[in-house]
Amino acid sequence: MDTPARQSHHPHSLPVQYVKGIGPKRAAVLEEIDVRTVMDLFMYIPRRYLDRSSVVTISRLKQIARGSRDQHLPIPGEDPFVAARQDHTVVGDVRSFRVMGFGPKSRLVLVLADATGSMQCVWFGGVHYWKKAFRLGEKLAVSGQASLYGGTLQFVHPDVDRIAGTVEGGEDGAIDWSSTLHSGGLVPVYASSQELSRLGFDSAGLRRVLHAAIRDHLENVVDTLPEPVAAGRSLLPLGEAIRKVHFPPTREDLLQGLRRLKYEELFRFQVKLALKRHWQREETQGISFSIESALARRLVDSLPFRLTAAQVRVINEVSADMRSDRPMNRLLQGDVGSGKTIVALTAMLIAVDNGYQAVFMAPTEILAEQHYKTLSHFLEGLPARLRLLVGAQRTALRRDILDDVQRGSADIVVGTHALFEKEVRFSRLGLVIIDEQHRFGVLQRSLLRKKGVNPDVLVMTATPIPRTLSLTLYGDLDVSIINELPQERRPVQTVLREEGQKETVYAFVREQVRKGRQAYFVYPLIEESEKLDLKAATSHFEELQSTVFPGLRLGLLHGRMTGTEKDEIMGRFRRREVDVLVATTVIEVGIDIPNATVMVIENAERFGLSQLHQLRGRVGRGSEQSYCVLLAKRWAAAGASRRLDPLAAHQQDQRRAAERRLATMVAMNDGFAIAEVDLSLRGPGDFFGTRQSGMPEFKVADLLTDSALLHEARADALALVESDPHLTQPDHRPLADDLRSRFHDELAILQVG
Ligand code: ADP
Ligand code: MG
Repeated sequence: MDTPARQSHHPHSLPVQYVKGIGPKRAAVLEEIDVRTVMDLFMYIPRRYLDRSSVVTISRLKQIARGSRDQHLPIPGEDPFVAARQDHTVVGDVRSFRVMGFGPKSRLVLVLADATGSMQCVWFGGVHYWKKAFRLGEKLAVSGQASLYGGTLQFVHPDVDRIAGTVEGGEDGAIDWSSTLHSGGLVPVYASSQELSRLGFDSAGLRRVLHAAIRDHLENVVDTLPEPVAAGRSLLPLGEAIRKVHFPPTREDLLQGLRRLKYEELFRFQVKLALKRHWQREETQGISFSIESALARRLVDSLPFRLTAAQVRVINEVSADMRSDRPMNRLLQGDVGSGKTIVALTAMLIAVDNGYQAVFMAPTEILAEQHYKTLSHFLEGLPARLRLLVGAQRTALRRDILDDVQRGSADIVVGTHALFEKEVRFSRLGLVIIDEQHRFGVLQRSLLRKKGVNPDVLVMTATPIPRTLSLTLYGDLDVSIINELPQERRPVQTVLREEGQKETVYAFVREQVRKGRQAYFVYPLIEESEKLDLKAATSHFEELQSTVFPGLRLGLLHGRMTGTEKDEIMGRFRRREVDVLVATTVIEVGIDIPNATVMVIENAERFGLSQLHQLRGRVGRGSEQSYCVLLAKRWAAAGASRRLDPLAAHQQDQRRAAERRLATMVAMNDGFAIAEVDLSLRGPGDFFGTRQSGMPEFKVADLLTDSALLHEARADALALVESDPHLTQPDHRPLADDLRSRFHDELAILQVG
């Protein structure tokens, strides 16, 4: 067998093949689940645990099996650690074993006996393996769920531990359960797959391998957590935690072990963020702007409204950053319609007044174009030159824009991803604003930053982000929040209507239009194929136009239109040449048309919560009362019993989640509160609906349930980096090494130290 050259004893770098029982083939399947090193194996945390602390005699087991025959199936998720179903263990001697049946029906039947009776253990498949696995007379501990098959007590595919020595006393008197992997106490259950199982990595196989790995390699584990931190939070040493998580003597041990591993994961990440933050703030030379800006002053004086107190506060926070000679790295969170654009514009004007350029990046062309128009409007009469750069522009125009940008004759450049391209060179880029940040990754943030010399960066999001997520995703940024809507805004009234009530909804829309208002009808993307979707949206549009609103002017907006087409239709809607805009979700973010007061969302049950909130944010932007109508299918009362039909149970869960989303929308207007509900429904991994958001995936920690631990880890990380910004103290070295090996290029600061 060719084994890789031995590099070190350290489980972090030691390939998993060094664990007894793992050869090249098994190593290859483990690699597919990202287990490459011994440490990765240690971090392959059990999914759940079986409570096998109940050791009983065979006659007792028979009583139990009789009694539990009619018991209902367990409801999944009742207890996060211990399966609701109760396993039992019996200890007995092998009386006989033989193969019965032929071909696919062949099975090994083993008879096990103790002082109170006998029972069968049955294995289907792999008969020849099992036949060789046992010896007559040997003593086994056998665990599983017993059943009665024609009156015979059986374990089907039980887990087996061989008990050394001979019978001493009865029951479990003489057995050392801490040395059995599959029975007695809490037994780990690991995630497996067909492929893993084929190579012997079912739960039992993984238990064996983990047992060997812990036995042979645990002592070499390097604990990177600084001692004072571990002591301050009463955390177990790493090795002990690993052992307890895989083979917990008690529940209490398990919880302690998990807590240590979760903490470690969160702490490591927070230290990384703290280092980056320190680097960016304290050790990088930024631009020190003079914030006495005549342009910004003139802008604010020319506004037809007064800034809210929250806007003023945030403008102050941003200008303080701009004045400082350290680069700004700030996240601006504000609910839809809270007025972030003006804040961004004042910052841009400060940059322009200082002779710098500013760039404003939006996630879609529609939004970039809208921002461009809004900004041109606000900038009327002010000496700031604005340009728009998007992907779809003609070559000559594009060259002209690029020229302007490079020569510095464009002060503010609004654009999309097109801004990332290599040919886009700025003469003096001083400020980067990124709208709807979660649609871009962290990487893109740094790409734009590199187009200037440490420009200030302000990222904005209208998707309120629960605090636990923002501490993780944006933990290296300072945060400003606009927590107030402009005064004359009235909260949007939201109602839930069933398909059967459509007529009343239509009548309501007609009435609003008669009053001079406009409406949106939004349609979800239902089909996998865009083409089919387009067809659905188009035919729906035609039906609305011909039979429902023959007297009104309708427009259609969908994702397959070209930029110019979209622009055209949005322009007409803005100029009130269209009364009702029928759209797919392309209008989700940012569109700002104050005269639109009705948002009808069809098949609302199909939308995610933050999407619904974003859509609703398209209305209620002016001073008129606005309405959001959620049209949803009426669901038949759940009839099927979830116990019997897992599919029905799944559908019922989906329905419940949908009902909860709709009810939340009706009850709440505050985006931050809605975001918390959304997080609880979807879980951290799917909160942004995409895995490209830069959200790290934690193996042990769960941001939903571990927020207290996250705050502790963050506080400790900040304190640590403050006291030792390069982690050069001897007792911080192991941590620095570990971080460097994990996040090498991201942590330039550690290379220096
Ligand atoms: P968002 O935070 O969703 O990006 P916008 O910046 O697009 O919000 O602002 C929404 C609307 O509110 C715009 O029409 C904007 O001109 C207007 N607005 C911004 N600030 C105020 C204010 N203080 N008072 C009244 N209207 C405001
Ligand atoms: Mg906006």
